[in-house]
Amino acid sequence: MENMEKFRALGLSENTLAALQKKGWETPSTIQEKTIPLLLKDERDVVGQAQTGTGKTGAFGLPLIEKLDDSSKKVQALIMCPTRELAVQVAEEISSFKGTKRFWVQSIYGGASFSTQARALEKGTQIVVGTPGRIRDHIERKTLKLDSVTHVVLDEADEMLNMGFEEELREILKSVPQQKIMLMFSASMPSAIVKI
Ligand code: AMP
Repeated sequence: MENMEKFRALGLSENTLAALQKKGWETPSTIQEKTIPLLLKDERDVVGQAQTGTGKTGAFGLPLIEKLDDSSKKVQALIMCPTRELAVQVAEEISSFKGTKRFWVQSIYGGASFSTQARALEKGTQIVVGTPGRIRDHIERKTLKLDSVTHVVLDEADEMLNMGFEEELREILKSVPQQKIMLMFSASMPSAIVKI
C-alpha cells in the first residue's frame, strides 16, 4: 500500500488504509489532513468550517473508526444531520471505512418506520447517524440510550439551525454524558453555532 503514504502519515491504521484503498482514495482532502491527526489524539473538541464535497465525512468518520470500541455494542458516537438523505449518505460512508472491524452504523430519521429503527437499535450499534427530531423521539421512548456516548458530531450545523433544530439539539445534548468530544462541521459560523 505504498500509494497510501499520505493517509498513513495522518496516523490511520493498516485496517483503515486497506478500506480506503478499496474505495480508491489516495490523497487526503484538506479538511481530512487538518482534522484526522487532531481527532486521533482525542484531546479536544473540533470545529471545522467545511461544505459538502470537501471530504468532511472522512474527516470525522475515519477517526471514529479508529477510536471507538468494536467489542462493545453500546452507542459510542452520535452524529446529527439536517436531512435524512445526508444521514443515510453519512452512515453508508462511515460503514465503508470499517474494514474488518465489527462496527454497526445505524441511521434513524423521520418518515420511516419507528419500530424497524427501534429493533435495529435494540440489536446494538456503536454509531448512530440521524436527524434531530427522530433522535429525540427515540430518546424519549427509551429506544436509544446515550449514556456510553464519547463522541458527538454536528454535521452541517448551520443547516440544522436554519431548519429550526436548535431546541432539539439542546435537548438531545442533555442525554449525552458531560465528558465527551464534540465535533462540529458547518459551512458558515453564525454566533448561535459558536455558542453551542
Ligand atoms: P463529503 O464532503 O464527505 O460529502 O465527501 C464528498 C465526496 O468525496 C464523497 O463522495 C466522498 O466519498 C469523496 N471523498 C472524500 N474524501 C476523499 C478522498 N480523500 N479521496 C477521494 N474521494 C474522497
